[in-house]
Order: sequence, then structure tokens, then C-alpha cells
Amino acid sequence: MSQTTEEPIRILIVDDETGVLDVYREILCPPDTSAQDAARGVVSSMRARLFPSKNADPAPVVKGPLKSRFEINTVTSAEAAVEAVKVSLAINSPYALIFLDMRMPPGRDGAWAAEQIRALDENVSIVLCSAYSDVDTEELSRRIAPEDKFFFLAKPFHPQEVRQMALALGHKWRAERRIAQLAYYDTLTGLPNREQFRDRFRVTLDSASRNQRPVALLYIDLDNFKRINDTLGHTAGDELLQVMAERLRDAIRKSDDVIHVSAIRRRGNDCARLGGDEFMALLPEVMSAGDASIIADRIVKVMSQPVPLGGQEVTVSPSIGIAIYPQDGDDVETLLRNADLAMYSAKRAAPGTFAFYDAQMNATAARQLEIETQLRTALINNEMTLSYQPQFELETGIVSSVEALLRWTNPILGCVPPMEFIPMAEATGLILPIGEWVLRTACTQAKRWADQGLLAGRMAVNVSALQFAQKDFVETVASILEETGLPAACLELELTETLVMKDEAWAYQVLRRLKTLGVDLAIDDFGTGYSSFSRLKEFPVDRLKIDRSFIRRTEGGADEDDAIISAMINMAKTLGLGVVAEGVEELPQLLFLQEQKCDLGQGYLLGMPLNVQSTEDFLERMRQTRESSNTQRIRTLVG
Ligand code: C2E
Ligand code: MG
Ligand code: MG
Repeated sequence: MSQTTEEPIRILIVDDETGVLDVYREILCPPDTSAQDAARGVVSSMRARLFPSKNADPAPVVKGPLKSRFEINTVTSAEAAVEAVKVSLAINSPYALIFLDMRMPPGRDGAWAAEQIRALDENVSIVLCSAYSDVDTEELSRRIAPEDKFFFLAKPFHPQEVRQMALALGHKWRAERRIAQLAYYDTLTGLPNREQFRDRFRVTLDSASRNQRPVALLYIDLDNFKRINDTLGHTAGDELLQVMAERLRDAIRKSDDVIHVSAIRRRGNDCARLGGDEFMALLPEVMSAGDASIIADRIVKVMSQPVPLGGQEVTVSPSIGIAIYPQDGDDVETLLRNADLAMYSAKRAAPGTFAFYDAQMNATAARQLEIETQLRTALINNEMTLSYQPQFELETGIVSSVEALLRWTNPILGCVPPMEFIPMAEATGLILPIGEWVLRTACTQAKRWADQGLLAGRMAVNVSALQFAQKDFVETVASILEETGLPAACLELELTETLVMKDEAWAYQVLRRLKTLGVDLAIDDFGTGYSSFSRLKEFPVDRLKIDRSFIRRTEGGADEDDAIISAMINMAKTLGLGVVAEGVEELPQLLFLQEQKCDLGQGYLLGMPLNVQSTEDFLERMRQTRESSNTQRIRTLVG
């Protein structure tokens, strides 16, 4: 914020006698035009009243540079002084120093004005000038704190005193302002930073509560910013943030028209950068949620315009969460949190849009927090178990494998579905110990069932992205196999497409090493990610598990989804990969998959996930049918 060094020292002089104002002006900004010499007579007589007689002459000599340092404004009443300060703050050109006459009959006095001004601006230095000895300086100093910004100047005073005060206090103000700029502004975008925004927000809320008016808070987060940073580099990322900041500032400034802001409030700087790719905007003048949505919509449109960057055009969109005072909270922290929650909800539902906060979001967040807390002790407290769901060869009805599925039952939360706690375990890193426990438990169980002659096939275990990214992941798998005595060929690891595609080079290397161990590899939830068959060909995987969303939609008839499934099966076969259909729930689906020569199937129709004992009973039943014909076996299954 280099412009602050150039900022003039603005001084406001308040005195009911215009002659006195001229004297001040002469001291601080000496007239250099002959026209002003005409006024000299008045000024010198005035000077005689202001300054002790021995100093009354000669006229104060002010060196050239001093003149350019100050920008002087004058007013003649206490009320006008308060107004001038308000305007100066609204246009972001605050005063450094105010010389304030104590007595300005018939209007209010200087002490009153000082108090009003201090409430508006805590940085300005106020010098109260009085010829009277009847001011109680101690009492006033207490009232108009802080003490180092409130001074008395007894009339008559020496010109030198005024000049020195102006210089010393002006420079002090400028230095403090520079420090504040550094502490309160984001150096990259020039927007107010988080600290300043909080302060400003607090002040806005105070005034909104006094005037009983709503305030809208917008939490703005760029979608996919990280990708730009990663692909185009940090310099391009910084440039993008600067463009976004400027667009946001512009959109807010223009929003003043929507909400009919008075000229004084028009400032377009009620926005801030919180850090990273997060911005905030404050709309203190909104009349309704409708106003806020018009502005949010404008921000989305403006910020989503393409940005020329490094020889190409990139597009990032913002997701915006809106919280409104007082309905969504009445303090800074609550409103910030709720706007943040709304932003996440918008991002989850549809990036590049906005969402208003609603109470349900809080309930969701509270549950998330409880899950996180409880998850930390879940393993130690033995709250985790595994269920096993069989996979079948569709042609023969033989159990090819069982998939270990994690179950969590907590005394407070009850039974929490994996889709709810696994993302949390991944976000907190807890998936590492949990995942290792799953692998060890599943391998131990598989070895036991193999020894009992119950499980001839594989044990399939899901692996999360975080586990897969660990340097020693392959070693962990190897040591668990060794520890449990399960042959590597009896273990199948299920990895998602996104996990493999995230860092292809790393994935390739890890998959190779796992294959060297002898482990089977499957791509889980296939079709939901972005991988293409041609890229997959490069990876040493054994089979694809077609995501259950495709199977669910098929009716076993001749519609589009059937065509997709059929294409997936054929492509997989061409690449020499096995295919598993997940989520087989209905007989027509099974028949269709059999007809398409899909290798394996898994789903409620064929077998539910079961606890250890029930799986054991089930495997025992299956062993007994091993001798029967294929058709009989399938009939037993779905029968
Ligand atoms: P997944 O690996 O795709 O597992 C199959 C999910 O589909 C299981 O849900 C299973 O109960 C469900 N399912 C099976 N057949 C049917 C069916 O016919 N219809 C329907 N609607 N659903 C069926 P679950 O147990 O809730 O697990 C959900 C996901 O959580 C799993 O999806 C997997 O991604 C993850 N998960 C489960 N256990 C683990 C684990 O130990 N580690 C990791 N990293 N993830 C796990
Ligand atoms: Mg799976
Ligand atoms: Mg799956």
C-alpha cells in the first residue's frame, strides 16, 4: 500500500472566528499570493490576540516544504466539525489532527465536539484550544481518551507551538497509519485483511442493532483455485487473486445502486480477503434477502468471467454463502461461521452459485463435529467392526470373494454409515490407523476362513486415497500379509479411479509393486470418476467394479444405461480386465448381467453385508451347494 507514504497530513481547524482560522492557515500553509496579503491587517490584529505580545511580530515564517505537507480544512462550529469528520472517514481520507476551539458560542463547545469525534475516529489527534482557565483538563482527558491523542493548547499560543504540534502529531499519525496498513490490509490485493474486516464488521453490527436494520455477510470462496495454482504456478495464482479482488470490489461498489446507498456510504471497500482464495463482503444497507441475492448473483457473474493469464484464458467461479443479521446470528463469530457453512453447502450442491444459511446446516455441522470427536477414540474403544459381503461368479454362482465393509457403532451417535464417517476419517488422517486395522482384521479373518475351508476366494479390502499416498503403503500391506499368513493372491485391494488418476506416476509405481507382491487389484466405483479406458490400460489392475449407480438404473431392458453397461463390460474384456457389477438388487438386472457375460456380481439380491457369524453361516451353506449344478446354486442364491 505504497500510496500511504504520499498521503497528505489532513488537518481540520475549528474556530468560530474566521480571523483565527486565517491565522492558523498562515502558520501552517503561508499564503504566497498577493491577494491574500490584503487580509494581512485583520490577521495581524487577530494574531495579537492569539499570541503573547512579544511574539506577535514578526509574522511566522514557514519554510516551503511545510506547506505541501498539510492539507487544511476549516469550519466554524462544533457541529460542522463532527460532520466534516464523518465525511472524511466516509471518503477514506481521515484527518490526522484537529485544532478545536473550546468556546464557540452560541453553538456547542469544543469538548462536546471532541467527544463526538473520538467516537467516530480513534486515531485522530485532537488539540483543544482555550483561552480560559476554567477547563478541567483532568476530567476532559479521562472522557476523551486516549491520553496520547488528546492535548490542550492554552491561548494565547506561539506560532511555533502550533507548527511543531502539527508536524509532530502529523508524522506520528502517518507512521501509525502505515503500521496499520501493514497490519490491516492484505498486501497482495490491497483489500482489508481478516483483522480489519472483523473490526469493521463489529462496528457495522453495533450500528445495525441500534438502527434495527439487517446486514448481509457474504463468504466467497473460489472454486478450483488450487488447480490454477498447481498448474500455472503461484505467480499466476497471485495475479488471479488480484483480478478477483478488483472484480469483487467493483461488484460491491456497483451494488450500492441496488441498495440505494447514500453518497456518503458509497465506498466499495466493505470487502476483504481472509487469506488463500477466501473473500468476504459486507452489505450493511440491504433491505431484504432479495437484495443480497441480486448482489451475490452479480458477484458470481463478474468473478466468473474469463481471466487472461499466462497466455491463456482461465475461468474460476466463486461459491458464495450468505448469512443475514439478525436472523442468522447476532455476533461476528456466529455470522462468519454460518456464512461459511452456507458457502460449503453451495459449493457441494453446485459450485459457482450462492446459498443462504439455514439452521439445518448448523445441525449438520454439529453432527460432523461430534463424529470427528467420537471417531478419535473409536478404535481404542473397540467400536469398529467389519461386515462381509459376498461377490459371486455370475455364471457359476460360486463365491469368488467377500468384501470387507467397515461398520461403526458409537454409544452416542449409534450406527454411523461409512459414507458419513469415512470422508471425516480421511480429512482428519484417522483413516490411516483405521485403514490399517481394517486390513489386518480382514486378512486375519480371511486366513481363518480359508483354513476352515469356508473361503476359497479372495478377501476384498477398500483402500482410501490417504493410505495409498503413504510412502510405506506397500510395506504395510506386505507386513500384514506376512503377520497373518494370508497368501497375497487371496487379498484384493479396491482403489477408486480418482485415487489412481490423482497422481498417475505415483499410482503406477505403487500398483506395480503391489502386483509384484501378488495382490489382486480392483478399481472400485468405476464410471464415477474421470478415468478413461485408454488410460486405465496403462495400469496393472485386474478388474473393474462398475458403480452401482449404473446398475441401479438398468431395468434389464434395452435402454441407454443398458447400452453403457454392455459397453463397459465389452471394453473391460477387450483390455483383459475382469468386471464386477456392484449393487445388483433385482432379478432382471442379474439376468441382464449374465446375458452380457459380466464376470462377477455383488448386491443385496445376491447377498447382504453380514457380520462375522452370519457370514460364516452363509459361507457354510454355500460350501454345501458347491457340489450342485450352476443353476441350482444361483437359484439358492436368489431364491
Ligand atoms: P463400496 O466399496 O462401493 O462398497 C459397496 C457399498 O455398497 C457398501 O456400502 C454396500 O453395503 C453397498 N451395497 C452393496 N450391495 C448393494 C445393493 O445392492 N444396493 C445398494 N444400494 N447398496 C449396496 P457401505 O458398506 O455403506 O460402504 C460404503 C462405502 O464406504 C464403500 O463403498 C467404500 O467406499 C467405503 N468403505 C466401506 N468400508 C471401508 C473401509 O474399510 N475402508 C475404506 N477406505 N472405505 C470403506
Ligand atoms: Mg468397495
Ligand atoms: Mg463400490
